[in-house]
Amino acid sequence: MIENPQDRLPGRTPAVEVRNLAKSFGRNTVLEDVNLTVLEGTVTAMIGPSGAGKSTVLRCLNYLERPDSGTIEIGGHRVDAQKRFSKNELYALRRTAGMVFQHFNLFPHMTVMKNIALPQQRIFGRSKAEAEARAQELLERMGLGDKGSTYPNKCSGGQQQRIAIARALALDPQVMLFDEPTSALDPEVGVEVLEVMKELASEGMTMIVVTHEMAFARDVSDDLVVMADGRIIEQGDPHRIMEDPQSERAQSFLHAVL
Ligand code: ADP
Ligand code: MG
Repeated sequence: MIENPQDRLPGRTPAVEVRNLAKSFGRNTVLEDVNLTVLEGTVTAMIGPSGAGKSTVLRCLNYLERPDSGTIEIGGHRVDAQKRFSKNELYALRRTAGMVFQHFNLFPHMTVMKNIALPQQRIFGRSKAEAEARAQELLERMGLGDKGSTYPNKCSGGQQQRIAIARALALDPQVMLFDEPTSALDPEVGVEVLEVMKELASEGMTMIVVTHEMAFARDVSDDLVVMADGRIIEQGDPHRIMEDPQSERAQSFLHAVL
């Protein structure tokens, strides 16, 4: 069963609209007719078996992959198969949609401070001092105020992921995309990252979170999307879906993970 979030969460405007998105790699059809509306100020959790196409959806949203067909509207940008981005347009898109990856993807040869400051300097043309002030503010918010001069590999996984979140937030994104942000972390460390994400959600950040954390999906997300075999097979109220999934495929997936 696919519910339109606008019926359940009225009065909000879409921050992301995906229409008829399709993507193949060679003969492997990875996404087929994906339609998704994410409303401003809401959290959409995306779950589903490995290989379902979850990462590919996120990667299309900020043009790390080019869609084969369909359209994406995100923060005033439009992505489709025909679109050719200039470097500046691509920067603008990636700034609009901040991405956090499973393996952090910090720059290993730069200090934590530089990891967060340099993108601001490159993308916004902020001065070093301005960029570092903003970085420090974000590090403090993440409980990492003393880590600026360290290198990422001296930080724990949970700290590195919070640094990655700070780096994305430093570009004032309209939407945050999280691709299994806690999957590489021990559970007790993952909790710290989930707490930061919960706080962001409560501040009204629009977020799409691909996750295996069912408690987070149930308790924090406003809208739950279940993907399988390149399609969205259920979308709607997280509690409703977890308690009473309609499709057999969603039932068997949830049975295996809950
Ligand atoms: P999920 O995130 O749900 O596990 P993915 O979006 O990563 O799924 O992958 C969906 C399918 O697309 C998988 O079969 C995967 O092997 C394939 N795939 C993903 N990225 C690429 C790529 N760059 N080249 C070829 N195949 C890919
Ligand atoms: Mg994935």
